[in-house]
Parts: sequence; structure tokens; C-alpha cells
Amino acid sequence: MSGKVYVSGKLLPKEQAVVSVYDHGLLYGDGVFEGIRVYGGRVFLLDEHVERLYESAKAIRLEIPLSPAEMTTAVEETVAANGIADGYVRLVITRGAGTLGLDIRRTSHPQVIIIADTITLYPPELYEKGLELVTASTIRNHPSALSARIKSLNYLNNIMAKIEATDQDKVEALMLNHKGEVAECTGDNIFIVKQGVLKTPPPDAGILEGITRGAVIRLAQQDGITVQQTTMVRHDVYVADECFLTGTAAEVIPAVKVDGRVIGDGSPGPVTRRLLDLFRRLTRGE
Ligand code: PMP
Repeated sequence: MSGKVYVSGKLLPKEQAVVSVYDHGLLYGDGVFEGIRVYGGRVFLLDEHVERLYESAKAIRLEIPLSPAEMTTAVEETVAANGIADGYVRLVITRGAGTLGLDIRRTSHPQVIIIADTITLYPPELYEKGLELVTASTIRNHPSALSARIKSLNYLNNIMAKIEATDQDKVEALMLNHKGEVAECTGDNIFIVKQGVLKTPPPDAGILEGITRGAVIRLAQQDGITVQQTTMVRHDVYVADECFLTGTAAEVIPAVKVDGRVIGDGSPGPVTRRLLDLFRRLTRGE
């Protein structure tokens, strides 16, 4: 397939989809983004992603040159132009080209980039068997330094932790916050199940408020499962009955071992399997 990328109002062939080397998105990681799934030709939870994108942009004083409604249309048109039925959209807004130096007043023309492609984050068998996590020594950015609620182009904090995982042949790392509490993983939110109660760290643990996290919380509540957004430490994960991660690219994936400790009986538990099933049904529009 040829592949067309939306760049600031135009659908361009992949090879011609470029931005300036003076773009502050490249020079300083100055910009925001979203990752969005497409299931059966429908862009999944698009309104929520567009809302978070505009909130991230607002927080970094970046004015997106499209209205949310225009952005929604641009995403849908890009997906259609690429004939994507099941895939992934990467929506990127950069600060635009400027002079060398941090001053945002010396930049112009924020770039809107929409890539519609496919993605496989983890090997399929891990969705059946569950994955193994290690805790990274790199802590999550202090929320007073940079709010984790902003989905910014600055992912070095997460990349440093991911390197620790891959150095140990693991696909994901658990990240703690500056207080030593469980925050999230490098690109996913974390849930545990203890005595039938579903628990996940609250937004003030310094996490990205994942849209998949929100969807899973709603599914659990509708299914009569008690959900608590509660502070937790590593010990809570070690002694949990079940553990799983959520993210747009990851979807819902069981975690069965953390820092060498087996979670539950070492296989995906009943609550995890139930939520995985409910999530898959939701993505199919059932
Ligand atoms: N935490 C981080 C750090 C992320 O980058 C992501 C998205 N990849 C998530 C959590 C999950 O968020 P969402 O469900 O909105 O994709």
C-alpha cells in the first residue's frame, strides 16, 4: 500500500511527508501527540483522544491550528485514505519551525501530522501467557517538573526506563514516582486485583491518565467489579492476585511476574481474562 500521511492540511505520499529540521518538535521535543486505535474501520474513542490532545496542547501553551471538530475529520479522512480497517493512528502536533533557542514566540506554524498505519506492540502469545515486568531504577518525572498528564513529545523519561527493561530481555518496566509509589509502566497504565477488588494508581501518582485505563474502569464498574484508584507500592503488586497493563497500543495485557515474583499462580487470572474479553467486545462495537 502506498501510504499517505497528513501534514498540515495535505495528504502526502510517505516519502514527501516531512517537517523542518528547525521544528521545535525535533529540536526540543516541544509538542504533543496521541496514539489511537482503529477497529473495524472505526476510530476507537476518538473524541476522548482529541480532548486529551487539546488539553495537553493547552498545558504547554501550544495553539493547534484546527478546531477539535476539524481534527476529528482530518483523522477520519487520513484513516480512510490509507484504507485502514484495523490499525493505529499517530497524531502529532509540533511547535513548528523557529530560531535556535527555546522562545516559543520565535516559532510559527505548528505542524499537524497524522500517520495511519498498523502496530504490533507485544508478541501475540504474551496476551495468553502474560508478560514479565521489572522495576526500573529510573523514576517517573516529578509531576512538578513536568506533568505526566501532558502527552508530550518528550518521552526520554519513559525511554530510559524501557532501556532498563530491554537490557534485561523484558518488554516492559514498572515505573515508580518520586515518593516510591507505583506510577505506571513506560507506555501503559497498571492495574492489580486483590481479593476481587480492581486497583489502579490515581492520577496524582504522576501518571498519564490513559484512555484505555478509563475504558477498563468503566467496563469493570458496569460488570459489578469494585474499582479503587488508590496509592500503591511495589509490595502491593508483588502480593496481588492478578496484574495487567492497559494502553492504546498494548490494549489489555496480563502481567504474571514482577521483579522475579510470580503474581498469583503465574497465569492470567479470572478478572483479567474477563476484562480482556469485555475490552475486545467493546473494540468490536458489541
Ligand atoms: N502511560 C504512558 C506513559 C503512555 O505513554 C500511555 C500511552 N502509550 C499510557 C499510559 C496509556 O494511555 P492510553 O490508554 O491513553 O493509550
